[in-house]
Amino acid sequence: MATQDEGPAIGIDLGTTYSCVGIWQNGRVEIIANEQGNRTTPSYVSFTNNGRLIGDAAKNQVSMNPINTVFDAKRLIGRKFSDASVRSDMKLWPFKVRGVGDKPIIVVNYNNMEKKFAAEEISSMILVKMREIAEAYIGSPVKDVVVTVPAYFNDFQRQATKDAGLIAGMNVIRIINEPTAAAIAYGLNKRDTIVGGKNVLVFDLGGGTFDVSLLKIEEGIFEVKATAGDTHLGGEDFDNRMVAYFIQEFKRKHEKDISNNRKAIRRLRTSCERAKRTLSSTSQTSIEIDSLFEGIDFYSTLTRAKFEELNVDLFTKCMEPLEKCLRDAKMDKSDVHDVVLVGGSTRIPKIQQLLQDFFNGKALCKGINPDEAVAYGATVQAAIMSGEGKVEKVQDLLLLDVTPLSLGIRNSKGVMDVLIPRNTAIPTKKERIYTTGYSGQTLMTISVYEGERLTPRENTLLGRFELSGISPALMGVPDISICFEIDNNGILVVSAEEKLTGNKNKLIISNSYKSRLSKEEIERMIKEADKCKLEDEEYKKKMEAKIALENYAYDIRQRLYSHSNIDPEVKKNIADEVGKVIHWIGSENQLQSHEEIEKKMKKLEKLCDPIYGKDVAGS
Ligand code: AMP
Repeated sequence: MATQDEGPAIGIDLGTTYSCVGIWQNGRVEIIANEQGNRTTPSYVSFTNNGRLIGDAAKNQVSMNPINTVFDAKRLIGRKFSDASVRSDMKLWPFKVRGVGDKPIIVVNYNNMEKKFAAEEISSMILVKMREIAEAYIGSPVKDVVVTVPAYFNDFQRQATKDAGLIAGMNVIRIINEPTAAAIAYGLNKRDTIVGGKNVLVFDLGGGTFDVSLLKIEEGIFEVKATAGDTHLGGEDFDNRMVAYFIQEFKRKHEKDISNNRKAIRRLRTSCERAKRTLSSTSQTSIEIDSLFEGIDFYSTLTRAKFEELNVDLFTKCMEPLEKCLRDAKMDKSDVHDVVLVGGSTRIPKIQQLLQDFFNGKALCKGINPDEAVAYGATVQAAIMSGEGKVEKVQDLLLLDVTPLSLGIRNSKGVMDVLIPRNTAIPTKKERIYTTGYSGQTLMTISVYEGERLTPRENTLLGRFELSGISPALMGVPDISICFEIDNNGILVVSAEEKLTGNKNKLIISNSYKSRLSKEEIERMIKEADKCKLEDEEYKKKMEAKIALENYAYDIRQRLYSHSNIDPEVKKNIADEVGKVIHWIGSENQLQSHEEIEKKMKKLEKLCDPIYGKDVAGS
């Protein structure tokens, strides 16, 4: 829970392609713009020989440094290297991913050295960036944060997201589901709701992912009834269609194929994305790219109708998961009370129209920026938890979340025995008594699974532990209590206890599973993160010192030309020294520290100040 001296709590939507941060201020949510003035920040980290770049700076230079620019960490977090999704995603990434044990590890070249990072570390860097954006805005430190995750994230993915917060030095006060956050943003959980609960469909179409979730909200409890979607469908696919169209047009007009020229394609893609955004509010737009290929300027126009035709099959594909989601939730479309739009791509008018048609003309919830709705809801949750909840506007929200999947153990018959059914409101605690399977049994292995299938093998094995030293007795006599406990963040602890003796053991999931980070690893990563921060600070100081020295040297050089009343010998001496400094900066040795640069500055100042005084630029 937040305390006064930790500053206000913030809400972060940690997205696959973009992240967004908000704070509760003056009785309302404020979504905070980054230093570039953008209200969403790319979830990108780039490693260079001159330090680390995060956010817009990292994304802007991705084509110059593709193999060391990491994105999509959310597709890796909490997953195993052997997961089918990891194996196929890897083929699309320009950066390297290796399996260490069964944990995926990202390998980059950083400061001329090979460096390995877990997805949690990359996500922690993005969380730090988002916190810094908030701190720069409010002018005081922030520690407590509510972070959102997709509704379908399993326990590992949630736990790993929490670990990312720990590595970032933050206190993750709650992890909530993204659709839950979006529904909160619209205040759909207010008490004055329909008897029997309110059904909310959240349609989330972002840059590269598409999620549909059906929530039931009743007396403050959010139940995820069903989720569906496509992990690889979004705005980038629409951009690609436009790029392919203009490649053909260029071929037709100029009889040249630009498709193998990476730079031309990158510039075309950037223009297409901009045109796509424009087409959400106008019916026609133009593309103008100077010297796109072999000195040829490319000018063209695109109408909204043509854009829609280029993407018609993809837009239709976006409607398919709606049927599936309703089917899984055993609901009819007429049972849905509200439809909420999330993700930048839901701004596309055709998508909105198809969705509205599907729901027989129902009005869509789109009053909040769709790419900010999740961070908005996370911020409301953060405000409640940090005591700002006394504010009347949020006071009436009772926020509860549910388990996304069923949790249980493999029983003696080899089937999944569910202790906590899916959609149970959390926090929760369930206990069940088991016994031995044969006489004299002193050891029991407890295998914990997550999933909806009867056969444990088809569910996800969360971990395994043993209860040893059971008092030998006839089969069926010892009472072994198995207890599942889930805290507010959806994190699970399973314990087993022999009732007679009090002998117990528990599964600390964080240490029992190869792809989870151990406490020691997290501590090491926190130290690494601090080290990276120090390196970033040193780099910043170095750059500032370098710019100051460069400005000073050029300014003196200017003055040398304009001041004629200086002794020629002194003038020559200064000119030589300035020349040396400018050459030294130009042939910059990356290993120089900021102190060395400042030393050079002092030396030059000592020489020049008696002549020019202290009013020169950079001094
Ligand atoms: P998100 O990950 O939710 O921030 O979504 C980002 C995606 O939304 C990107 O593919 C953007 O190109 C797309 N997007 C943002 N604004 C618009 C808009 N006005 N019209 C169409 N697509 C948009």
